[in-house]
Amino acid sequence: MATPIRTRPPHAHGEATESRYRDRFKFDRAVFASHCIDCYPGNCPYRVYLRDGNIAFEEQAGTLPVIEAGVPDMNPMGCQKGAGWSHTLNGGERLRHPVRRVGERGSGEWERISWDQACDEIADGIIDAIQEQGPESMIALSGCNMSTWGVTGRTRFFSLIGGLTTDLNAEMNDFSPGHYLTYGKFDPVSSIDDWFHADVFFIWFSNPAYTRIPHQHYITEARYRGATIVTVAPDYSPSAMHADYYVAVKPGTDAAFALGMAAAVIEEGLVHERFVKEQTDLPLLVRDDTRRFLVEADLRDDGHPEQFYWLDARTGDIAPAPRATLDTGDVDPALSGDVRVTLRDGATITARPVFQHVVQRLAGYTPEKAAAMCGVDAATIRELARKVARGRTKTLGSLNNAGKYYHGDLIERSQLLLLALTGNWGRKGTGVQAWIAALFDGWLMGSAKPVAGPDIVKMLHGGYKQFVAAVREEDPTMTEELATIEFTKRSANNGATGWVPPVFLWYNHAGYDRNWNQASWHDPSMPRTFDSYYNEALERGWWAGVPQRATEPRVFIECGGNALRRTRGGRKMLLTHLWPKLKTIVTMDYRMSATALESDYVLPIAAQYEKISFGIPSTHTLNLTFCDKVVEPIDEAKSELEIFGLLCQAIARRAKERGFVTYHDAAGTERRLDDLWERYSYNNGYARNGSAIDEDALADDMIKDTIVTGALPEGSDLGKVREQGFIRFTGLGMNARALGQASDIEPDSTFAPLRNHTEKKYPYPTLTRRAQFYIDHDWFLEADEHLPRHKDAPKAGGDYPFLITSGHNRWSVHSANIVNKLMLQTHRGEPHLVMNPADAAARDIADNEVVEVFNDMGSYRTPVKLSPSARPGQVIMYNGWEPYQFPNWNGPSDIEPGMIKPLHLAGGYGHLRYWPNEWQPAPACRGTRAGVRKITR
Ligand code: SF4
Repeated sequence: MATPIRTRPPHAHGEATESRYRDRFKFDRAVFASHCIDCYPGNCPYRVYLRDGNIAFEEQAGTLPVIEAGVPDMNPMGCQKGAGWSHTLNGGERLRHPVRRVGERGSGEWERISWDQACDEIADGIIDAIQEQGPESMIALSGCNMSTWGVTGRTRFFSLIGGLTTDLNAEMNDFSPGHYLTYGKFDPVSSIDDWFHADVFFIWFSNPAYTRIPHQHYITEARYRGATIVTVAPDYSPSAMHADYYVAVKPGTDAAFALGMAAAVIEEGLVHERFVKEQTDLPLLVRDDTRRFLVEADLRDDGHPEQFYWLDARTGDIAPAPRATLDTGDVDPALSGDVRVTLRDGATITARPVFQHVVQRLAGYTPEKAAAMCGVDAATIRELARKVARGRTKTLGSLNNAGKYYHGDLIERSQLLLLALTGNWGRKGTGVQAWIAALFDGWLMGSAKPVAGPDIVKMLHGGYKQFVAAVREEDPTMTEELATIEFTKRSANNGATGWVPPVFLWYNHAGYDRNWNQASWHDPSMPRTFDSYYNEALERGWWAGVPQRATEPRVFIECGGNALRRTRGGRKMLLTHLWPKLKTIVTMDYRMSATALESDYVLPIAAQYEKISFGIPSTHTLNLTFCDKVVEPIDEAKSELEIFGLLCQAIARRAKERGFVTYHDAAGTERRLDDLWERYSYNNGYARNGSAIDEDALADDMIKDTIVTGALPEGSDLGKVREQGFIRFTGLGMNARALGQASDIEPDSTFAPLRNHTEKKYPYPTLTRRAQFYIDHDWFLEADEHLPRHKDAPKAGGDYPFLITSGHNRWSVHSANIVNKLMLQTHRGEPHLVMNPADAAARDIADNEVVEVFNDMGSYRTPVKLSPSARPGQVIMYNGWEPYQFPNWNGPSDIEPGMIKPLHLAGGYGHLRYWPNEWQPAPACRGTRAGVRKITR
């Protein structure tokens, strides 16, 4: 039965304006909340005000303290979208009851069913799949709109049954492969208040005026302090008006721009030599004959293959570069010159420092030459290079969507080279920004621990410490960070994490093998076919530990994502190739998404304010932010934790009824179904009334479990976070990505990552133990990408005149409230393509006219918004729109071929090894080629 609550209080006609206004803001209770539905980095503490049990209004809490004297506090964190969340909560798009399709998939014909019926039927589908194909035939995409309970419930459920979950970062492609190649980790993130310390602030691959509304004030405040703000974008982006420089770079040529500045830094003698010698591989010697690093194994029969050498400028001799520290000791590593070296077989070769190769490479990127490639004039390149070299420089690429370009790795490596030459990371006000979700270790434990209580957590934490200690014993040159990353890689490569890179699923089951082998869509400079790289990677065992050829997929569970909207290739690829293989498709959501519309079952989940949850923990704010349960879930909606629990109960029951209780997974491990619920509920440790999880008790333990790992202060608990809305983290905890931030959290200081490297001289988790710009892997040498360079974006999608760029839509929380009525009213109310007026005029296209956007993959129709902010030859399609907002439900994803760069399958080389969220291929979307035409019929 519908529950008619939660509407805003009505007002009588004729009521005086003043009393209406006062009445509007009356409340009898206020609680802390936030919007934890992957509004990343979000984490805004909110106050939600209730009257008579209904939400009256919401506003920013404004309760965050000053952290560092002289640096503005983070208040008031919030945005219009958050302030309108209750409209989504009560919107017409909300799902209220479990439904099952009765027509063809996608026909829109549904019937309402009970939770019992839904769970029993889904349970049978899952058991059928296990019997037919094994548990690996049950797949889930990670999804980034997941709440705390979505992650916990799905992770426990999948790990108990043995299903496969695809890696989030490849799926959404917020990966920064260039950072990874350089640092051995992609994700350094400073706190947002650290932006204030920058002297030069690049808004580059980012549009904070749209996407970082709660944090944008730090850019303004840094500028007020005297910082120079530089917006680099092909279009005059909405953030450009807040900058001192707008740099109109040609789309996808940012590497040339960065290398032009790097060349100017060298040309003008502005290189920070001490930083370069200590932090990077630029002094390491490379053999002239093989173009490989000179290693000890070249010199001695028992030599170490990963012991690298440099040339000591004081003695003129080669010396081993220490692996345990970045401290150069008594050696003065040379950046120039060459040296003759006698190898173990008596042959003599010459070797020279990487820096020499960099200088040689940059000769092709003088500011004048770079200007010809990127369209930015040489004088501006020089001027900005000087500023970068003389000040603390930070580049903001929120979630760094450079990686969304096919050659984004080259762009990022070029940006980092500029920062390396000028000593611009590992201190306040410097560095790059990516993303991280870690610190809240209790969340991770909540997914993994078998029983409730503190003892198991202490045991798990102790076990982790022992594993890390064992790795360090094997290789005493490793720091805790390096050993933890190594331990995580080992776990990921024997399937222990339950995550798999989606590349293999897409290749084998979703038709992408055809796209990826379409030579004309790839980089024409690559000498071989995609399959040649793919097969070699598999044959050489580079991905041996992760499932490469999953069994035929049979069950698809979408929880926290929207695969048919977000996946590059979208409905076109997945509905055509993957969907026919699936016998049971389940979507859990709080609204009817594009994926829900094509599912067999749709289960309504509780939204924010209807369940407790935590913001995605990150060093951006360094707070564990809490969202309380403000109102009861709408109608029959339930938290994901409860839904997966119901599924466990149904599967156990049906398994017993069907006499199918045990089975083996692909690794040969025996699994059982009859005690699923007991194990899911932590051996009944958090069971409430025998059939549901006590979410408050579990959340309280997650906080207390995080105290054990040292990331939250003593005395933290649910009561405290409920009372104050957030708790500041005090340590990095035990997660590899958190430790990869490589800096201590200080109570009275902004957070700048990588300080352990610059201040304590701890090595980096790379092959050379230094920030590595020279990648002497076979494939990188073959592609001439052993050093950063510029390559034009290939013609993904075909040879068409327009290059599509994108970015987060202004009026959405990612895709979550894209169809929220309030938000739709703030713009044209429907999707639109931004196009330069001259391009439109040449095609006789008028403003708001519906056009066809097309390429080799297909087409979609959309109104055009004419704006001179888009450069000629560029069209901008902001993302997040649902396919059903377009005619025939064909949306922008449907013309994206989802190309991946074959080099990102490389392995067998130092840090080029998979671990969750890190090294793996991810599909490119920026720079897809398309035509735009007038519709004449
Ligand atoms: Fe903050 Fe995100 Fe909520 Fe906006 S939607 S107020 S950015 S948490």
